[in-house]
Amino acid sequence: MYVYRMIKNNSSDGAIGSCQQHGALGEPVLLLQALWDALRSQQEVLSSPYTTTLLAFLVHLVFCAPYLALDVLGHISPGIHLYSISRSAQPLRVCLRRWLDCFLRVAMRYLTTILPGTVLYQRMRNPSFPYLAPSCHQLFVEVTACLLLFDAIFFMLHYAMHRVPWLYRTVHRPHHRNQVTFALAAQDGSVAELLSLQMLAVGSTWAIGCHPMSEAVFHLINTWLAVEDHCGYDLPWALHRLLPCFGGAPFHQAHHHVYRGNFAPYFTHWDLLCGTYLYAREEPARKHEGRTMRRRRRKKSLGSDCVCE
Ligand SMILES: [Zn+2]
Ligand SMILES: [Zn+2]
Repeated sequence: MYVYRMIKNNSSDGAIGSCQQHGALGEPVLLLQALWDALRSQQEVLSSPYTTTLLAFLVHLVFCAPYLALDVLGHISPGIHLYSISRSAQPLRVCLRRWLDCFLRVAMRYLTTILPGTVLYQRMRNPSFPYLAPSCHQLFVEVTACLLLFDAIFFMLHYAMHRVPWLYRTVHRPHHRNQVTFALAAQDGSVAELLSLQMLAVGSTWAIGCHPMSEAVFHLINTWLAVEDHCGYDLPWALHRLLPCFGGAPFHQAHHHVYRGNFAPYFTHWDLLCGTYLYAREEPARKHEGRTMRRRRRKKSLGSDCVCE
């Protein structure tokens, strides 16, 4: 049973009536409100594009950190490689070099692309901090809708980038420099690709009309899912094992190996509907590697950079 109440919104950016939904016990709603109040108290700091860019970068690094630890621990305890999708162990020096190179590229992209993009976006749109937190139901619905919308448009853009050679060469190829993915590679892409993904994420929340708290949760989940897609591990507690509608790391790793399918970032339904689903879990890594080597040889002989089919 729910009780609805209308409370006058006394946010600084304009007074709007708002409907707040409370559960019978109220605890989750109170928790959300307490969290939102804590965030609102920092609204001056959180409104700065410099803070939000720095936070986004740090969140990405924090989500990647456990996988860096697994990569390092894999050289001490080889049992960890059983969960590695590619099963190809590299020397620790090569592994750390790969992480460092990628870190420098991603940091540079944040400085030269994400930060200016965020400054421009914040100038165009004044961040709002309404008085009330969303209800748990509202937060869940808005975040799910954003994920589905982002996934659908990303699928179409990604498909186009692999089908149109010019788009692949100018926008998407830098992301495919990592044939064997690792967590940090989630944001290793060209300026055009990172900007378009940033606009797509922001545009999805705008199209759904999200509460700012739902927007923040969506960006957090979006970052986490991108990291998990690229982590290179098929761990027993991974999201795609709990919820089969998610593709997860094996699904996206197959895309980086074979290029011709699994274009959706998170869910599997678009690839299943459009016939581009790769049965990643049934295809052993060696098969992917063999296929990719043949493709590379063919590509060399054709003198082309595009690997689309
Ligand atoms: Zn990728
Ligand atoms: Zn791709």
